[in-house]
Amino acid sequence: MTRPARARINLQALQHNFSRVQQAAPHSKIMAIIKANAYGHGLVRVAQALPDADAFGVACVDEAISLREAGFDRRIVLLEGLFTAEDVGLVNGYQLDVVIHHESQLALLEQGSLLRPLDVWVKLDTGMHRLGFSPGSVNAVTARLRDIPQLANIRYMSHFPCADDLDNSSTPSQRQVFLDAVATTAGEQTLANSAAILGWPDTHLDWVRPGIMLYGGSPLAGRSAASLDLQPVMTLGTRLIAVNARRAGDAIGYGGDWVCPADRLIGVAAIGYGDGYPRHAPSGTTVLVNGKTAALAGRVSMDMICIDLSDHANANVGDEVILWGEGLPVDEVAAAAGSISYELLCGVGSRVQLEYI
Ligand SMILES: *Cc1c(COP(=O)(O)O)cnc(C)c1O
Repeated sequence: MTRPARARINLQALQHNFSRVQQAAPHSKIMAIIKANAYGHGLVRVAQALPDADAFGVACVDEAISLREAGFDRRIVLLEGLFTAEDVGLVNGYQLDVVIHHESQLALLEQGSLLRPLDVWVKLDTGMHRLGFSPGSVNAVTARLRDIPQLANIRYMSHFPCADDLDNSSTPSQRQVFLDAVATTAGEQTLANSAAILGWPDTHLDWVRPGIMLYGGSPLAGRSAASLDLQPVMTLGTRLIAVNARRAGDAIGYGGDWVCPADRLIGVAAIGYGDGYPRHAPSGTTVLVNGKTAALAGRVSMDMICIDLSDHANANVGDEVILWGEGLPVDEVAAAAGSISYELLCGVGSRVQLEYI
């Protein structure tokens, strides 16, 4: 048996989730966010499965080039924009859109010589205090962009830090700050990530930017993905490589801090933090063995986890173990590990085979 850890990617579920975006934001264009290898799902395969996306959002030039080399001629937006002077030539050569969020990027564009038209998305900081120009500088930034030869369309964007919390008033305030800032400027506008697509309809504007909801993670705090009609796209699985009878008092795994409370059957599954299963998942975290729940026992190792098979008397070497996905929401596993679905999904390691169905 070759290493059994694999992630099954259900492209129909991806398409279903995309249709949820269309349903929630019927008047907006859709920029599908596929940075970080499409949140771990495979950049090119995910892009190919989204023929109705109006644009793709990626984090860096390399991701964009992979798409162009795979034959995509749709709009691609570099969400963090240019990093170096060399990027100016690349974005122009590969016909990529860039986000501009900082004076240094404006300077790169002013100094570089564009040979072909370039579209830019000006990012405003409306309260996240991470990236973006101050809302008051919109007219000055726009005027400088207009002076750059070959600079074509200018669009405006901002990002929400708290849209997952439907009681948080910072989202409507940020929206207002944004709308005031761009009130006298022509150009398309975009604010909404997945949480805002589902939770804050008046932020949809010209473009929406779904990420996690495409992959079936819940973007809203306290709401399950199923209750939002989102389907899991990735199912991470592996197999048992050992099943052993242990005695009451036996300590399991590194540190020995999980001790069998009684005689127990303990399974060992071939997956660990080296594959992206979170090391901070504590004993008791749910896994599925042959489709039925079981609990992690002891610390996660690099290549293995141990599982308490109390209710699985017939479990055998070779049986299927599911870590998250169909039947076990990634959000639940993430919560148990003190993390978020985003981190678990994009952390799936390169030695895990991706299989598309
Ligand atoms: C990653 C990202 C998104 C997508 O966010 P989700 O919460 O995954 O929907 C949208 N916009 C920008 C600028 C991003 O960087």
